[in-house]
Amino acid sequence: MSSAEGSEPYALACRQLRETIDRLGLDGDFYNRLRAPVRALEVALPIRMDSGEVKTFRGWRVQHCLARGPAKGGLRYHPEVTLDEVKALSMWMTWKTAVVNVPFGGAKGGVACDPKEMSRDELERLTRRYTSAVLPILGPETDIPAPDVNTNEQVMAWIMDTYSANKGYTVPSVVTGKPIQLGGSRGRREATARGCLFAVLETLGILGISIDSCTVAVVGFGNVGYWAARLLGEAGAKIVAVADSKGGIYNPAGLDVEAVARTKRETSTVAEYPDGERLPSDAVYEVDCDILVPAALGGQINSRNASRIKARIIAEGANGPTTREADEILGDAGTFVIPDILANAGGVTVSYFEWVQGLQAYFWSEQEVNAKLKTHMGAAFHEVYALAEREKVDIRTAAYMLAVTRVAEALELRGLFP
Ligand code: NAD
Repeated sequence: MSSAEGSEPYALACRQLRETIDRLGLDGDFYNRLRAPVRALEVALPIRMDSGEVKTFRGWRVQHCLARGPAKGGLRYHPEVTLDEVKALSMWMTWKTAVVNVPFGGAKGGVACDPKEMSRDELERLTRRYTSAVLPILGPETDIPAPDVNTNEQVMAWIMDTYSANKGYTVPSVVTGKPIQLGGSRGRREATARGCLFAVLETLGILGISIDSCTVAVVGFGNVGYWAARLLGEAGAKIVAVADSKGGIYNPAGLDVEAVARTKRETSTVAEYPDGERLPSDAVYEVDCDILVPAALGGQINSRNASRIKARIIAEGANGPTTREADEILGDAGTFVIPDILANAGGVTVSYFEWVQGLQAYFWSEQEVNAKLKTHMGAAFHEVYALAEREKVDIRTAAYMLAVTRVAEALELRGLFP
Protein backbone atom coordinates (compact mmCIF):
# COMPACT_ATOMS: atom_id res chain seq x y z
CA MET A 1 0.00 0.00 0.00
CA SER A 2 2.72 2.48 -0.86
CA SER A 3 1.33 5.94 -1.39
CA ALA A 4 1.75 8.18 -4.43
CA GLU A 5 3.56 11.49 -4.21
CA GLY A 6 1.24 14.42 -4.65
CA SER A 7 -1.88 12.29 -5.00
CA GLU A 8 -4.57 11.40 -2.50
CA PRO A 9 -4.33 8.01 -0.75
CA TYR A 10 -7.68 6.77 -2.03
CA ALA A 11 -6.77 7.46 -5.66
CA LEU A 12 -3.61 5.51 -5.06
CA ALA A 13 -5.47 2.62 -3.41
CA CYS A 14 -7.78 2.47 -6.44
CA ARG A 15 -4.82 2.48 -8.81
CA GLN A 16 -3.18 -0.37 -6.89
CA LEU A 17 -6.43 -2.32 -7.12
CA ARG A 18 -6.78 -1.66 -10.85
CA GLU A 19 -3.20 -2.80 -11.51
CA THR A 20 -3.63 -5.93 -9.43
CA ILE A 21 -6.90 -6.86 -11.13
CA ASP A 22 -5.30 -6.34 -14.55
CA ARG A 23 -2.27 -8.40 -13.57
CA LEU A 24 -4.51 -11.21 -12.32
CA GLY A 25 -6.59 -11.03 -15.49
CA LEU A 26 -9.80 -10.68 -13.45
CA ASP A 27 -13.01 -9.33 -14.86
CA GLY A 28 -13.30 -5.51 -14.73
CA ASP A 29 -16.49 -5.87 -12.66
CA PHE A 30 -14.33 -6.77 -9.69
CA TYR A 31 -12.69 -3.39 -9.93
CA ASN A 32 -16.02 -1.59 -9.78
CA ARG A 33 -17.23 -3.73 -6.90
CA LEU A 34 -14.06 -3.35 -4.85
CA ARG A 35 -13.27 0.26 -5.64
CA ALA A 36 -16.00 1.87 -3.58
CA PRO A 37 -16.52 1.15 0.11
CA VAL A 38 -19.67 -0.76 1.07
CA ARG A 39 -20.48 1.95 3.63
CA ALA A 40 -18.96 5.31 4.56
CA LEU A 41 -20.49 7.16 7.48
CA GLU A 42 -19.57 10.77 8.24
CA VAL A 43 -20.45 12.11 11.67
CA ALA A 44 -20.41 15.51 13.39
CA LEU A 45 -19.31 15.33 17.03
CA PRO A 46 -20.16 18.36 19.21
CA ILE A 47 -18.07 18.13 22.38
CA ARG A 48 -18.03 20.37 25.44
CA MET A 49 -14.39 21.20 26.04
CA ASP A 50 -13.05 21.69 29.58
CA SER A 51 -13.18 25.46 29.01
CA GLY A 52 -16.98 25.27 28.55
CA GLU A 53 -16.71 26.02 24.83
CA VAL A 54 -18.48 23.59 22.44
CA LYS A 55 -16.33 22.31 19.56
CA THR A 56 -17.64 20.18 16.72
CA PHE A 57 -15.26 17.55 15.35
CA ARG A 58 -15.65 15.54 12.16
CA GLY A 59 -15.35 11.80 12.16
CA TRP A 60 -15.78 8.85 9.81
CA ARG A 61 -16.23 5.10 9.83
CA VAL A 62 -15.74 3.39 6.51
CA GLN A 63 -16.41 -0.29 5.80
CA HIS A 64 -14.70 -1.19 2.59
CA CYS A 65 -15.62 -4.82 2.04
CA LEU A 66 -17.60 -7.45 3.94
CA ALA A 67 -17.10 -10.35 1.52
CA ARG A 68 -14.90 -12.42 3.87
CA GLY A 69 -16.47 -11.47 7.22
CA PRO A 70 -17.21 -8.56 9.58
CA ALA A 71 -15.44 -5.28 8.93
CA LYS A 72 -12.25 -4.80 10.93
CA GLY A 73 -9.90 -1.88 11.29
CA GLY A 74 -8.41 0.73 13.56
CA LEU A 75 -9.58 4.14 14.71
CA ARG A 76 -7.22 7.06 14.14
CA TYR A 77 -7.20 10.42 15.93
CA HIS A 78 -5.14 12.97 14.03
CA PRO A 79 -5.60 16.60 12.97
CA GLU A 80 -5.01 15.69 9.33
CA VAL A 81 -7.34 12.69 9.02
CA THR A 82 -9.67 12.99 6.02
CA LEU A 83 -12.42 10.85 4.54
CA ASP A 84 -10.13 10.19 1.59
CA GLU A 85 -7.45 8.76 3.86
CA VAL A 86 -9.92 6.68 5.88
CA LYS A 87 -11.34 5.21 2.65
CA ALA A 88 -7.85 4.23 1.49
CA LEU A 89 -6.94 2.77 4.88
CA SER A 90 -10.18 0.76 4.93
CA MET A 91 -9.38 -0.76 1.53
CA TRP A 92 -5.87 -1.60 2.68
CA MET A 93 -7.41 -3.36 5.71
CA THR A 94 -9.39 -5.57 3.33
CA TRP A 95 -6.14 -6.65 1.68
CA LYS A 96 -4.34 -7.08 5.00
CA THR A 97 -6.98 -9.36 6.51
CA ALA A 98 -6.98 -11.37 3.28
CA VAL A 99 -3.17 -11.72 3.16
CA VAL A 100 -3.07 -13.24 6.64
CA ASN A 101 -6.29 -15.11 5.89
CA VAL A 102 -8.34 -14.01 8.89
CA PRO A 103 -12.12 -13.99 8.31
CA PHE A 104 -12.68 -10.24 8.24
CA GLY A 105 -13.32 -7.48 5.76
CA GLY A 106 -11.65 -4.09 5.91
CA ALA A 107 -12.73 -0.96 7.78
CA LYS A 108 -11.18 2.15 9.26
CA GLY A 109 -12.28 5.04 11.40
CA GLY A 110 -10.94 8.49 11.98
CA VAL A 111 -11.63 11.69 13.89
CA ALA A 112 -9.98 14.94 12.84
CA CYS A 113 -8.70 16.18 16.19
CA ASP A 114 -5.42 16.89 17.92
CA PRO A 115 -5.33 14.55 20.92
CA LYS A 116 -2.08 16.13 22.11
CA GLU A 117 -4.02 19.34 22.77
CA MET A 118 -6.92 17.60 24.54
CA SER A 119 -7.38 16.51 28.15
CA ARG A 120 -8.23 12.93 29.07
CA ASP A 121 -11.82 13.98 29.88
CA GLU A 122 -12.20 15.66 26.49
CA LEU A 123 -10.85 12.55 24.76
CA GLU A 124 -13.27 10.37 26.68
CA ARG A 125 -16.24 12.58 25.71
CA LEU A 126 -15.10 12.62 22.08
CA THR A 127 -14.68 8.83 22.03
CA ARG A 128 -18.09 8.19 23.60
CA ARG A 129 -19.78 10.67 21.26
CA TYR A 130 -18.04 9.11 18.24
CA THR A 131 -19.09 5.63 19.36
CA SER A 132 -22.72 6.75 19.77
CA ALA A 133 -22.66 8.35 16.33
CA VAL A 134 -21.33 5.26 14.52
CA LEU A 135 -23.13 2.77 16.78
CA PRO A 136 -25.67 1.71 14.14
CA ILE A 137 -22.91 0.15 12.05
CA LEU A 138 -20.70 -1.24 14.87
CA GLY A 139 -21.01 -4.66 16.46
CA PRO A 140 -19.09 -7.90 17.03
CA GLU A 141 -20.66 -9.40 13.92
CA THR A 142 -20.60 -6.25 11.80
CA ASP A 143 -17.67 -3.94 12.46
CA ILE A 144 -14.99 -4.19 15.14
CA PRO A 145 -12.65 -1.21 15.75
CA ALA A 146 -9.10 -1.44 17.15
CA PRO A 147 -6.36 1.04 18.12
CA ASP A 148 -4.42 3.01 15.51
CA VAL A 149 -2.50 6.30 15.58
CA ASN A 150 -3.22 8.17 18.85
CA THR A 151 -5.78 5.68 20.12
CA ASN A 152 -5.04 2.96 22.64
CA GLU A 153 -6.46 0.40 25.07
CA GLN A 154 -8.21 3.08 27.11
CA VAL A 155 -9.98 4.44 24.02
CA MET A 156 -11.09 0.88 23.19
CA ALA A 157 -12.41 0.47 26.76
CA TRP A 158 -14.53 3.65 26.35
CA ILE A 159 -15.89 2.41 23.02
CA MET A 160 -16.75 -0.97 24.52
CA ASP A 161 -18.43 0.65 27.52
CA THR A 162 -20.47 3.10 25.41
CA TYR A 163 -21.60 0.36 23.04
CA SER A 164 -22.48 -1.94 25.97
CA ALA A 165 -24.38 0.83 27.80
CA ASN A 166 -26.52 1.31 24.70
CA LYS A 167 -27.17 -2.41 24.34
CA GLY A 168 -27.90 -2.92 28.03
CA TYR A 169 -25.37 -5.70 28.47
CA THR A 170 -21.59 -6.09 28.15
CA VAL A 171 -20.29 -6.72 24.64
CA PRO A 172 -16.51 -7.14 24.89
CA SER A 173 -16.10 -8.38 21.30
CA VAL A 174 -17.20 -5.08 19.76
CA VAL A 175 -13.57 -3.90 19.92
CA THR A 176 -10.13 -5.47 20.00
CA GLY A 177 -6.96 -4.06 21.49
CA LYS A 178 -8.85 -3.49 24.76
CA PRO A 179 -7.29 -3.94 28.22
CA ILE A 180 -6.77 -7.54 29.35
CA GLN A 181 -8.99 -6.83 32.40
CA LEU A 182 -11.91 -6.29 30.00
CA GLY A 183 -11.33 -9.31 27.79
CA GLY A 184 -8.32 -8.13 25.81
CA SER A 185 -5.92 -10.72 24.49
CA ARG A 186 -2.55 -11.39 25.99
CA GLY A 187 0.06 -10.41 23.45
CA ARG A 188 -2.19 -7.92 21.57
CA ARG A 189 -0.31 -4.83 22.74
CA GLU A 190 2.92 -5.92 21.10
CA ALA A 191 1.32 -8.02 18.33
CA THR A 192 1.90 -5.66 15.41
CA ALA A 193 5.58 -5.38 16.25
CA ARG A 194 5.89 -9.11 16.99
CA GLY A 195 4.40 -9.89 13.58
CA CYS A 196 6.91 -7.48 12.09
CA LEU A 197 9.70 -9.31 13.93
CA PHE A 198 8.52 -12.67 12.54
CA ALA A 199 8.46 -11.20 9.01
CA VAL A 200 11.99 -9.82 9.48
CA LEU A 201 13.23 -13.19 10.78
CA GLU A 202 11.75 -14.97 7.74
CA THR A 203 13.43 -12.43 5.46
CA LEU A 204 16.79 -12.81 7.20
CA GLY A 205 16.44 -16.57 6.78
CA ILE A 206 15.97 -16.15 3.02
CA LEU A 207 18.88 -13.73 2.75
CA GLY A 208 21.10 -15.90 4.96
CA ILE A 209 21.75 -13.14 7.49
CA SER A 210 21.89 -13.61 11.27
CA ILE A 211 19.86 -11.16 13.36
CA ASP A 212 22.77 -10.84 15.79
CA SER A 213 24.76 -9.10 13.08
CA CYS A 214 22.01 -6.57 12.27
CA THR A 215 21.60 -2.93 13.16
CA VAL A 216 18.13 -1.36 13.21
CA ALA A 217 16.58 2.12 12.89
CA VAL A 218 12.94 2.71 13.87
CA VAL A 219 10.95 5.84 12.96
CA GLY A 220 7.89 6.32 15.19
CA PHE A 221 8.05 5.36 18.84
CA GLY A 222 4.42 4.64 19.70
CA ASN A 223 2.80 1.25 19.99
CA VAL A 224 4.38 -0.22 16.87
CA GLY A 225 7.75 1.57 16.97
CA TYR A 226 8.51 1.05 20.65
CA TRP A 227 7.64 -2.64 20.54
CA ALA A 228 9.49 -3.16 17.26
CA ALA A 229 12.64 -1.65 18.76
CA ARG A 230 12.25 -3.67 21.93
CA LEU A 231 11.47 -7.03 20.30
CA LEU A 232 14.12 -6.72 17.57
CA GLY A 233 16.60 -5.79 20.31
CA GLU A 234 15.57 -8.78 22.42
CA ALA A 235 15.96 -11.02 19.35
CA GLY A 236 19.62 -9.96 19.07
CA ALA A 237 19.71 -6.93 16.76
CA LYS A 238 21.38 -3.67 17.76
CA ILE A 239 19.00 -0.69 17.79
CA VAL A 240 21.08 2.25 16.60
CA ALA A 241 18.44 4.94 15.99
CA VAL A 242 14.86 5.79 16.88
CA ALA A 243 12.65 8.82 16.24
CA ASP A 244 9.28 10.26 17.15
CA SER A 245 7.47 13.33 15.79
CA LYS A 246 9.72 15.68 17.80
CA GLY A 247 13.13 14.31 16.80
CA GLY A 248 15.46 11.35 16.68
CA ILE A 249 18.45 9.89 18.47
CA TYR A 250 21.34 7.95 16.92
CA ASN A 251 24.09 5.92 18.53
CA PRO A 252 26.02 3.46 16.35
CA ALA A 253 27.13 1.65 19.53
CA GLY A 254 23.47 0.85 20.29
CA LEU A 255 20.64 2.41 22.27
CA ASP A 256 19.13 1.13 25.50
CA VAL A 257 15.50 0.93 24.30
CA GLU A 258 13.99 0.87 27.80
CA ALA A 259 16.02 3.91 28.84
CA VAL A 260 14.90 5.72 25.66
CA ALA A 261 11.28 4.83 26.47
CA ARG A 262 11.76 6.27 29.98
CA THR A 263 13.12 9.48 28.46
CA LYS A 264 10.08 9.69 26.20
CA ARG A 265 7.72 9.21 29.16
CA GLU A 266 9.49 11.92 31.14
CA THR A 267 10.16 14.50 28.41
CA SER A 268 7.59 13.48 25.74
CA THR A 269 10.30 12.77 23.14
CA VAL A 270 13.05 10.23 22.47
CA ALA A 271 15.22 13.08 21.18
CA GLU A 272 16.03 14.13 24.78
CA TYR A 273 17.82 10.82 25.37
CA PRO A 274 21.33 11.90 26.36
CA ASP A 275 23.44 8.99 25.13
CA GLY A 276 23.57 9.61 21.37
CA GLU A 277 23.52 12.13 18.58
CA ARG A 278 20.32 14.13 18.21
CA LEU A 279 18.89 14.12 14.67
CA PRO A 280 15.80 15.51 12.96
CA SER A 281 13.13 12.78 12.79
CA ASP A 282 13.37 12.28 9.04
CA ALA A 283 17.19 11.93 9.16
CA VAL A 284 16.69 8.62 10.97
CA TYR A 285 15.46 7.05 7.72
CA GLU A 286 18.92 7.61 6.29
CA VAL A 287 21.21 6.37 9.07
CA ASP A 288 23.56 3.47 8.52
CA CYS A 289 21.62 0.32 9.41
CA ASP A 290 20.62 -3.09 8.06
CA ILE A 291 16.91 -2.99 8.93
CA LEU A 292 14.67 0.07 8.79
CA VAL A 293 11.25 0.00 10.45
CA PRO A 294 9.02 2.94 9.48
CA ALA A 295 6.40 3.02 12.26
CA ALA A 296 4.89 6.50 12.01
CA LEU A 297 2.66 7.97 9.30
CA GLY A 298 2.24 7.41 5.57
CA GLY A 299 4.31 8.73 2.64
CA GLN A 300 7.49 9.37 4.62
CA ILE A 301 9.79 7.30 2.40
CA ASN A 302 9.61 9.18 -0.89
CA SER A 303 11.65 10.22 -3.92
CA ARG A 304 13.47 12.82 -1.83
CA ASN A 305 15.04 10.37 0.61
CA ALA A 306 14.71 6.87 -0.91
CA SER A 307 18.07 6.91 -2.69
CA ARG A 308 19.81 7.77 0.59
CA ILE A 309 18.31 4.88 2.55
CA LYS A 310 21.06 2.44 3.45
CA ALA A 311 19.01 -0.35 5.03
CA ARG A 312 18.98 -3.66 3.20
CA ILE A 313 15.57 -4.57 4.60
CA ILE A 314 12.59 -2.27 5.19
CA ALA A 315 9.81 -3.74 7.34
CA GLU A 316 6.77 -1.48 6.99
CA GLY A 317 5.31 -1.23 10.48
CA ALA A 318 3.35 1.85 9.41
CA ASN A 319 0.56 1.85 6.87
CA GLY A 320 1.58 3.29 3.50
CA PRO A 321 5.02 4.65 4.52
CA THR A 322 6.58 4.25 1.03
CA THR A 323 5.52 6.21 -2.05
CA ARG A 324 5.42 4.54 -5.44
CA GLU A 325 8.38 6.57 -6.65
CA ALA A 326 10.37 5.46 -3.60
CA ASP A 327 9.31 1.86 -4.17
CA GLU A 328 10.89 1.96 -7.62
CA ILE A 329 14.10 3.50 -6.32
CA LEU A 330 14.32 0.90 -3.55
CA GLY A 331 13.51 -1.90 -5.99
CA ASP A 332 16.37 -0.80 -8.27
CA ALA A 333 18.70 -0.67 -5.27
CA GLY A 334 17.78 -4.25 -4.32
CA THR A 335 16.26 -3.29 -0.96
CA PHE A 336 14.02 -6.04 0.42
CA VAL A 337 10.76 -4.25 1.29
CA ILE A 338 8.31 -6.22 3.43
CA PRO A 339 5.07 -4.43 2.56
CA ASP A 340 2.73 -3.09 5.23
CA ILE A 341 -0.16 -5.42 4.45
CA LEU A 342 2.18 -8.25 5.42
CA ALA A 343 4.72 -6.67 7.80
CA ASN A 344 2.20 -5.06 10.15
CA ALA A 345 -0.56 -7.69 9.88
CA GLY A 346 0.37 -9.16 13.28
CA GLY A 347 -1.92 -6.60 14.92
CA VAL A 348 -5.04 -7.64 13.06
CA THR A 349 -4.09 -11.30 13.44
CA VAL A 350 -4.04 -11.07 17.24
CA SER A 351 -7.15 -8.88 17.05
CA TYR A 352 -8.75 -11.88 15.36
CA PHE A 353 -7.50 -14.09 18.21
CA GLU A 354 -8.93 -11.59 20.72
CA TRP A 355 -12.30 -11.63 18.94
CA VAL A 356 -12.34 -15.44 18.90
CA GLN A 357 -11.40 -15.63 22.59
CA GLY A 358 -14.11 -13.07 23.46
CA LEU A 359 -16.81 -14.93 21.55
CA GLN A 360 -15.83 -18.16 23.29
CA ALA A 361 -15.25 -16.40 26.64
CA TYR A 362 -12.21 -18.64 26.92
CA PHE A 363 -8.78 -17.03 27.07
CA TRP A 364 -5.41 -18.25 25.91
CA SER A 365 -1.95 -17.92 27.44
CA GLU A 366 0.51 -15.46 25.98
CA GLN A 367 2.66 -18.35 24.71
CA GLU A 368 -0.33 -19.76 22.86
CA VAL A 369 -1.14 -16.39 21.28
CA ASN A 370 2.46 -15.82 20.21
CA ALA A 371 2.82 -19.35 18.82
CA LYS A 372 -0.36 -18.99 16.76
CA LEU A 373 0.78 -15.57 15.56
CA LYS A 374 4.09 -17.06 14.45
CA THR A 375 2.29 -19.80 12.50
CA HIS A 376 -0.06 -17.32 10.83
CA MET A 377 2.67 -14.82 9.92
CA GLY A 378 5.00 -17.57 8.70
CA ALA A 379 2.31 -19.06 6.47
CA ALA A 380 1.36 -15.65 5.03
CA PHE A 381 5.00 -14.72 4.46
CA HIS A 382 5.80 -17.95 2.61
CA GLU A 383 2.64 -17.82 0.50
CA VAL A 384 3.49 -14.28 -0.56
CA TYR A 385 7.17 -15.05 -1.12
CA ALA A 386 6.40 -18.17 -3.18
CA LEU A 387 3.98 -16.17 -5.34
CA ALA A 388 6.58 -13.43 -5.81
CA GLU A 389 9.15 -16.00 -6.95
CA ARG A 390 6.69 -17.78 -9.23
CA GLU A 391 5.36 -14.61 -10.85
CA LYS A 392 8.73 -12.82 -10.76
CA VAL A 393 7.24 -9.80 -9.03
CA ASP A 394 8.21 -7.89 -5.90
CA ILE A 395 6.83 -8.81 -2.49
CA ARG A 396 4.33 -5.96 -2.41
CA THR A 397 2.85 -6.91 -5.78
CA ALA A 398 2.63 -10.54 -4.71
CA ALA A 399 0.90 -9.61 -1.44
CA TYR A 400 -1.70 -7.63 -3.39
CA MET A 401 -2.20 -10.48 -5.84
CA LEU A 402 -2.78 -12.97 -3.03
CA ALA A 403 -5.16 -10.64 -1.18
CA VAL A 404 -7.24 -9.56 -4.17
CA THR A 405 -7.51 -13.19 -5.35
CA ARG A 406 -8.92 -14.25 -1.97
CA VAL A 407 -11.43 -11.41 -1.87
CA ALA A 408 -12.48 -11.93 -5.50
CA GLU A 409 -13.01 -15.66 -4.79
CA ALA A 410 -15.26 -14.79 -1.85
CA LEU A 411 -17.26 -12.33 -3.98
CA GLU A 412 -17.60 -14.86 -6.77
CA LEU A 413 -18.78 -17.62 -4.42
CA ARG A 414 -21.31 -15.38 -2.71
CA GLY A 415 -22.72 -14.13 -5.99
CA LEU A 416 -24.82 -11.04 -6.45
CA PHE A 417 -27.76 -9.99 -4.30
CA PRO A 418 -30.54 -9.86 -5.43
P1 NAD B 1 1.04 5.65 17.89
O1 NAD B 1 0.15 6.83 17.94
O2 NAD B 1 1.12 4.76 19.07
O3 NAD B 1 2.54 6.12 17.55
C1 NAD B 1 2.87 6.92 16.45
C2 NAD B 1 4.31 7.36 16.61
O4 NAD B 1 4.75 8.02 15.41
C3 NAD B 1 4.52 8.36 17.75
O5 NAD B 1 5.72 8.01 18.43
C4 NAD B 1 4.72 9.68 17.03
O6 NAD B 1 5.51 10.61 17.75
C5 NAD B 1 5.42 9.20 15.77
N1 NAD B 1 5.39 10.15 14.67
C6 NAD B 1 4.35 10.86 14.19
N2 NAD B 1 4.75 11.65 13.18
C7 NAD B 1 6.08 11.41 13.01
C8 NAD B 1 7.06 11.92 12.14
N3 NAD B 1 6.77 12.83 11.20
N4 NAD B 1 8.34 11.45 12.25
C9 NAD B 1 8.65 10.54 13.19
N5 NAD B 1 7.76 10.03 14.05
C10 NAD B 1 6.49 10.46 13.95
O7 NAD B 1 0.60 4.84 16.59
P2 NAD B 1 0.83 3.29 16.26
O8 NAD B 1 -0.38 2.54 16.68
O9 NAD B 1 2.19 2.88 16.74
O10 NAD B 1 0.81 3.34 14.66
C11 NAD B 1 1.97 3.68 13.91
C12 NAD B 1 1.77 3.24 12.47
O11 NAD B 1 1.54 1.82 12.45
C13 NAD B 1 0.56 3.84 11.76
O12 NAD B 1 0.87 4.00 10.39
C14 NAD B 1 -0.52 2.79 11.94
O13 NAD B 1 -1.54 2.88 10.96
C15 NAD B 1 0.31 1.54 11.79
N6 NAD B 1 -0.28 0.34 12.39
C16 NAD B 1 -0.61 0.27 13.69
C17 NAD B 1 -1.14 -0.91 14.21
C18 NAD B 1 -1.44 -1.08 15.68
O14 NAD B 1 -1.76 -2.22 16.09
N7 NAD B 1 -1.34 -0.06 16.51
C19 NAD B 1 -1.35 -2.01 13.38
C20 NAD B 1 -1.00 -1.92 12.03
C21 NAD B 1 -0.45 -0.73 11.55
